[in-house]
Amino acid sequence: MHELGIVLEIVKQVEEYKISNSIEDIEALVLQIGELSGVVPRYIEDVYPMAIENTSLSKTKLIIQIEPGIGKCKECGLSFNLVQNDNICPLCGHTKWDILMGTELLIKEIHAKE
Ligand SMILES: [Zn+2]
Repeated sequence: MHELGIVLEIVKQVEEYKISNSIEDIEALVLQIGELSGVVPRYIEDVYPMAIENTSLSKTKLIIQIEPGIGKCKECGLSFNLVQNDNICPLCGHTKWDILMGTELLIKEIHAKE
């Protein structure tokens, strides 16, 4: 599964961060997932418990933030949500646009335990 590989890679990166910053425990991990990233947040949540099992993050909570997929219409310049509008500009009906945001998957925050 595509998502498991992604989560395993994220867990590896966070573990490296934890070691290099001498953090004892990481309470929560915040992932930002763009609607246009091709990653399904629900699948990430499903595989997460498997990915952290037997790692130093086995008690770390996962928090997912969704970043909307926003495009800018090449015809009228309107910025709109591509997913909600089926990739069609709601103002002028054009289907050509530039993506402004929503393609990334990134580790947004790492919360160390106080
Ligand atoms: Zn338009």
